[in-house]
Amino acid sequence: MTPPITVSGLVAAHRCPLRYWHDLSRPAAESVRYAVAKQVAAHIGRDLEPAVIWDELTVVLPGVDPGARALMEAWTVACRDMRPPPFELADRPVRSERLGLVGLVDGVAPDLSACAVVRAADAPTFGVTFADRVRAAAYALCLEEERGRPLEAVHLVYIPTGTVRRYTPQPRDRRAVLRALAVARRVQEGRLPPRPADAPCSRCPHARACASGARSGRSIL
Ligand code: SF4
Repeated sequence: MTPPITVSGLVAAHRCPLRYWHDLSRPAAESVRYAVAKQVAAHIGRDLEPAVIWDELTVVLPGVDPGARALMEAWTVACRDMRPPPFELADRPVRSERLGLVGLVDGVAPDLSACAVVRAADAPTFGVTFADRVRAAAYALCLEEERGRPLEAVHLVYIPTGTVRRYTPQPRDRRAVLRALAVARRVQEGRLPPRPADAPCSRCPHARACASGARSGRSIL
């Protein structure tokens, strides 16, 4: 039986099929930025005490670079006046049997009407980025299967800028999920992907491996 595809894997496949292939071959460790964002998010709406958050971070990431403390403190300030989603931000597994998709979402409303996704990136000037729309739609599709009807909103929580964007996934986002699922399945089957001409290489953790020719640019999908 084919293993399910994770939401993070799906988003990687949406950005660049080759990135998903690299992720499967060499799963990346959780980034310090993401760990900081998650720990700050856990305190939003109640206590945003830097000393407490830093203490927790040293438990989550033993040996964390002390330089990350400045990042955490800056994000704590950015989130002081944030109006968080009206439910707890706590990890919650989600699954779609129909799509073969699994994930761990950062918060779910008790009535399953909404969920939240924590991002360790600045909020875009307007709206929500395409990658985040795909991520939101993927989580919504999983929860909708459990709820039996569509979600009302996905809250994108951008910790570095202290911004929350409420988004309702659209049909175009669901189509993008289906396309990315098909790509990810082909990669899972061992059909190595090409290097896309418009791949977002400047922000990719596999840029060095890619540039060193770990994969040829020839399409075999
Ligand atoms: S470096 Fe570019 S082509 Fe290579 S995996 Fe990353 S995004 Fe894709």
